[in-house]
Amino acid sequence: MKILGLIGGMSAESTTVYYQTLNGLVRARLGGLHSAQILLRSLDFAPIAKLQSAGDWDATGVILADAAARLEAAGAEAILICANTMHLNAPQVQAAVRCPLIHIGDATAEALKARGVTKALLLGTRFTMEKPFYAERLEAAGLGVLTPDPTDRERLHAIIYDELVVGVITEASRAAVLAMIDRGLAAGADGIIFGCTEIGLLLDPAAMPAPTVDTAIAHCEAAVDFALG
Ligand code: GLU
Repeated sequence: MKILGLIGGMSAESTTVYYQTLNGLVRARLGGLHSAQILLRSLDFAPIAKLQSAGDWDATGVILADAAARLEAAGAEAILICANTMHLNAPQVQAAVRCPLIHIGDATAEALKARGVTKALLLGTRFTMEKPFYAERLEAAGLGVLTPDPTDRERLHAIIYDELVVGVITEASRAAVLAMIDRGLAAGADGIIFGCTEIGLLLDPAAMPAPTVDTAIAHCEAAVDFALG
């Protein structure tokens, strides 16, 4: 079993999901007392979020590339960035290591296609929904991508940064995101992407009105395929 190097803390709430999911998947596949081999570099999210909102993606890239290099030096055989947004720095991270970066967008595209989705509603931070790095990765895999309207994007971004990343789950936000999903499906989406690794803390992907991929789970599944492959 290969050793997975996780860049986490973005946020700590969803890094917990990664740790539990990776171990659960390895136990399910190998049985007995097996668990995943994991190295975790959990970053302080406050300075990263500040750089994100200042648009200083060069600085976030330096921090993430350094984390990846340390993980590889410690024995990691693949790197995972445990967030969608920070895949904006995927090229810098991959350039800092020799081992592969398991890209969350690729894992998500595979999972969407396996569920028969052709045009997906992308829910995530404003950065993930509005900057080209994420949608382009999915489009390159042959998928159509829709995003909520600007008002919904603003609301969802606030729900993520003011609530989900600090562990706050509210019924009002649950209802707001469900309403966004209904509008996205009415606009022509045939599937849903929980394109922020904390959305699965708010809503159950299995209970959505259309096939749904929780990117944190799809990313872990791809990582376990690699580790056990
Ligand atoms: N974890 C989130 C994501 O998947 C949002 C927090 C961040 O900006 O990293 O995009």
